Amino acid sequence: MKYPEFDGTQNCVNADVEIFFYEDWEGEGTGARRPKNKKDFTAAKIMCSTCPFLEPCFLWALHHERYGFWGGTTEEERAKMRTVKGIEYVNPLKDSLYVKRKNR
Ligand code: SF4
Repeated sequence: MKYPEFDGTQNCVNADVEIFFYEDWEGEGTGARRPKNKKDFTAAKIMCSTCPFLEPCFLWALHHERYGFWGGTTEEERAKMRTVKGIEYVNPLKDSLYVKRKNR
């Protein structure tokens, strides 16, 4: 999967990154990290809904992002979609296309 060609026109380019992630976690380092508290991702959802990168961002995140709000979806929604659709999560650092891009 190719990392989206973000060109600076994505809606979140100047957004506070905190609107996309939970603040507190439990289970760090156990391989089963999960948020301690619920979070309202409405602001992120609204931002993504009109973003020109919504589709590539979502597809990337579905395959490669376990954490955070990406492409209009929460991490829980993507985890559920992976299970239902039989999609395997692939660590982006082990994805050859991504590594090639990052090493340029
Ligand atoms: S879809 Fe959302 S997370 Fe992805 S680039 Fe656009 S605003 Fe950012």
